[in-house]
Amino acid sequence: MTTPPRLEVQNLIRAFDGQRVVDRVVFAVEAGQVACLLGPSGCGKSTTLRLVAGVDRPDSGQIFVDGKPVCDGKLHIPPERRSVGLMFQDFALFPHLSVSENVAFGLKGGYSANRARVAELLERVRMSSHIDSYPHELSGGEQQRVALVRALAPQPRVLLMDEPFSGLDERLRDGIRDETLALLKEEGTAVLLVTHEPDEAMRMADQILLMRDGRIVQQGAPYNLYNAPADRQAAAFFSDIN
Ligand code: ADP
Ligand code: MG
Repeated sequence: MTTPPRLEVQNLIRAFDGQRVVDRVVFAVEAGQVACLLGPSGCGKSTTLRLVAGVDRPDSGQIFVDGKPVCDGKLHIPPERRSVGLMFQDFALFPHLSVSENVAFGLKGGYSANRARVAELLERVRMSSHIDSYPHELSGGEQQRVALVRALAPQPRVLLMDEPFSGLDERLRDGIRDETLALLKEEGTAVLLVTHEPDEAMRMADQILLMRDGRIVQQGAPYNLYNAPADRQAAAFFSDIN
């Protein structure tokens, strides 16, 4: 018996005012894999992510986590029961909670029941010395690292990341991307990462899903898309990278 993909999306459609923003989207993400949903602003990336998260419902299509349907016709499993973690660009740490309490937020029993896991995660992003700090005492990069381990703490089967690095200073970004990727690989999480930056996708993805006008126009390994773009627009999109 073969293992089903961690995340599978079949023929997802979502329209607003009769306009399809997500149009027959199909893809799968395996355990340990980072899939980058890449495309220009407004092409439907965040809407796709929201459907997978379960905070929005598609007009039609199916979503499976570990082969089990979480969205299919009338079936709509709520976000908190999908084993899907979320991380957005503004980090949104809880300002009134310390770093340790933020990381433990999604864990049963809170910080007192999960000290070892919280300590281990903070150690891995070099934030142990900030365990009792509050978000306003941290730099943007530090907040980002805390947000990452908070999202990973409950060991979600799938992690969804929407432009997670776009709020960061450019000088920090490459380092944090590499660090994030290393942690994701250690955890073995399946990741769907949304970005409009081709170089970010080239750097982080095992698989790129190139999106335009609600459709996946090409998908495959970064190297293949870069070397053999499906059409002129795809080529133009990758042409800035060196
Ligand atoms: P991206 O994340 O790729 O920039 P989005 O998924 O946020 O794009 O948006 C895709 C399109 O769908 C945009 O034209 C946006 O205005 C539209 N859209 C998104 N959400 C809604 C909504 N709730 N109601 C109406 N239009 C929406
Ligand atoms: Mg978006």
